[in-house]
Amino acid sequence: MPAWPEFRRPAAGLADGRALTYHDRPGAPERTRVDQRPLDPVAATSELRRDELTGEWVIVAGHRQDRTFLPTQATGCPLCASRPGNPTEVPEDDYEVAVFDNRFPSLTPDAVGDLSSDRRPGFGRCEVVCFTSQHDLRLADLDSDRVLLVVRALIDVVQRVRSGPRGQRSRGRTGRGSAARRLGR
Ligand SMILES: [Zn+2]
Repeated sequence: MPAWPEFRRPAAGLADGRALTYHDRPGAPERTRVDQRPLDPVAATSELRRDELTGEWVIVAGHRQDRTFLPTQATGCPLCASRPGNPTEVPEDDYEVAVFDNRFPSLTPDAVGDLSSDRRPGFGRCEVVCFTSQHDLRLADLDSDRVLLVVRALIDVVQRVRSGPRGQRSRGRTGRGSAARRLGR
């Protein structure tokens, strides 16, 4: 088992105020590019509802109907690095690991409401962890140091969520551009 690689976490931001953090190994270029897309603020209106039949809690998030679904490079993938004329969720033209707040979150830290009923505010945090800027690369294609960098980034996300208010529920996704997979909640 290799040791944890050295890494740094330059923080950036996106045009609508969402957080973006790169996870870089030594030698990576400085992260200086600014997101200049004309984005509207994120508006999340989800809630948790208890299923009367199963007793399970489910997330109802109607505002996510317009979210990006299985994008291709031809249609404009938001998880790829930015290119001239095709700005994405990652302003740099290359990256190793990028973590940012989901633009279409199923849960939001801004949710407020009654926590004692069968319909509760969708309180939580949704972040996307992109582990490569190459659209078709798989996690299995990465070298071990790079995989450890991804794991390190995931640990950071979990620690950040756990230290947040009210024991935030979290929903994470890993992405490689052509696919994003749910990690859990
Ligand atoms: Zn992509």
